[in-house]
Amino acid sequence: DKWDIDFYPVERFKNEPRPGKYEGQRRFTAFQVDRSKYDTILLNHAASKGAEVRQPAKVAEVLVEGDRVTGLRMEGGETITARHYIDASGTVAVLRRALGIHVDVMRELRNVAFWDYWQNADWVVEIGVGGTRIQVRSLPYGWIWFIPLGPTRTSVGLVTPVEHYTSCGMAPEALYRKALAECADIAPLLKNATCEGKFTSCKDWSQLADRIIGENWFLVGEAAGFADPILSAGMSLAHSSARDAAYTIMELNRGEIDAAWLRERFNERHRTAISQHIRFGQFWYSANACFTDLKEHCQRIADDAGLRLEPIQAWRWLSQGGFANEIIGHPTFGSFDVASAKQILALFDPIGSVKTKYLASGFNEFKLNLRNTKHVKFGLLRNGRIEQVDCLERGIHRLPLTGLYGTMYDALKQTPDIRAIVDALKDATRRAEPGLPESMFNVRIFSYLQALETMIEEHWVTPSLNRKKAPLIITHAGSKHIRSSEEGRRAVEAAEDHPTVVWRI
Ligand SMILES: Cc1cc2nc3c(=O)[nH]c(=O)nc-3n(C[C@H](O)[C@H](O)[C@H](O)COP(=O)(O)OP(=O)(O)OC[C@H]3O[C@@H](n4cnc5c(N)ncnc54)[C@H](O)[C@@H]3O)c2cc1C
Repeated sequence: DKWDIDFYPVERFKNEPRPGKYEGQRRFTAFQVDRSKYDTILLNHAASKGAEVRQPAKVAEVLVEGDRVTGLRMEGGETITARHYIDASGTVAVLRRALGIHVDVMRELRNVAFWDYWQNADWVVEIGVGGTRIQVRSLPYGWIWFIPLGPTRTSVGLVTPVEHYTSCGMAPEALYRKALAECADIAPLLKNATCEGKFTSCKDWSQLADRIIGENWFLVGEAAGFADPILSAGMSLAHSSARDAAYTIMELNRGEIDAAWLRERFNERHRTAISQHIRFGQFWYSANACFTDLKEHCQRIADDAGLRLEPIQAWRWLSQGGFANEIIGHPTFGSFDVASAKQILALFDPIGSVKTKYLASGFNEFKLNLRNTKHVKFGLLRNGRIEQVDCLERGIHRLPLTGLYGTMYDALKQTPDIRAIVDALKDATRRAEPGLPESMFNVRIFSYLQALETMIEEHWVTPSLNRKKAPLIITHAGSKHIRSSEEGRRAVEAAEDHPTVVWRI
């Protein structure tokens, strides 16, 4: 079955001129970027903000003393010294290697990727002006990405386990071409396209460094770790850790917050984010029934990870490390919000979505359970500062009293009644976001319910049913973000203003 995953309901998407500002509906869509152009934009922006840019600038040697970096010897012979060093050198990980930081490579998630760029490939669908979806298609021995990068250029790649590649006896490019020809959904898109002939391959082994911060150094992006590209999340992870490194350095320089706390926070937050993405990858590979040629391989991934495939166990396993990682105060893990992640598990569930039902569903009273909790601080990145916000801690779980959690916590302190809680959340949303489009209003309320869900899961809240009142019912049915492609198409056709979406194939 084919599913559509949309960050913004496609039937609500409006035709707007491009290039446009990063506002309105654009805030809810993803960017597919040509890296050479995008990286140039970032570099020029850094220069415009006062960064000194040197090009070329290859680090030939990292000078270290114990766990401290003392300088970088450049290829031209010059030595550069600094107060802080950030390793953003990707898999080369020049600083990490020099420091001898151990990297945990996931034994079974060892894939290779082959890709090239294509001119004038057809798109499956055109959404608004110049928008489309990336396509991911499973084959019996791996999967294909099809990522349009601009009006004419598309990146098309194959990911397959290294053991399949070595045992198939084919040259990389021949295997790549075979996969494209065999993929019934991708082959027609390339019928009239021209390959740029920039065939590239790399190993993409999921891995995570044991430690990503030291006394005067940071690992960001892929130098810190790599999660299989199935979630297309590498750039988000790289941005997030790089931004956090900048914030952390500014706070270290100010000297107002305990340095050990800042370092520990950085280490935990980004290692957890990477490992949750890796887990999602492991789950995706081990549960994907399309990988008929890789059954043993997929089983080994499941065994290796100690992963039971029943969705309820899978959910617990995936969510280890908590939900308050990427966007503090918002329940997320991996790149997904809690609802989307649960729904994806349900889609992999051969029995149906019953087991990934919401813990809040079927109840109508929710009481805070604050026994044996202590107050600790959680870091919130805001306006160039790391704010230390209040957070409850019990065992391995933490509940930041900010963002969605904070508002939900305040509402729960007032009343256990779900109707009154939802009314309070609506008021809070109106106050916080005046002018929020009506279409996004329910989305916000649903985000609060996801916060409630994780609060139940981590035992911050105890649900109960008062039989005199109607229970809260939450289901995946009717989701506008993840649904079968057929449902998505019907929703667009039923919408009043649907010429914004044009199916080309
Ligand atoms: C097959 C594959 C598909 C992917 N698909 C996606 C996707 O669809 N979406 C997504 O978001 N992510 C994807 N990723 C992940 C994404 O490419 C990476 O997460 C991202 O590029 C990491 O950024 P980075 O800045 O850490 O490293 P890089 O982008 O690798 O940049 C490292 C930089 O360091 C420089 N460098 C290296 N050594 C030195 C040195 N000694 N001195 C100076 N400079 C040096 C390099 O020249 C390079 O410019 C994919 C990755 C792979 C392998």
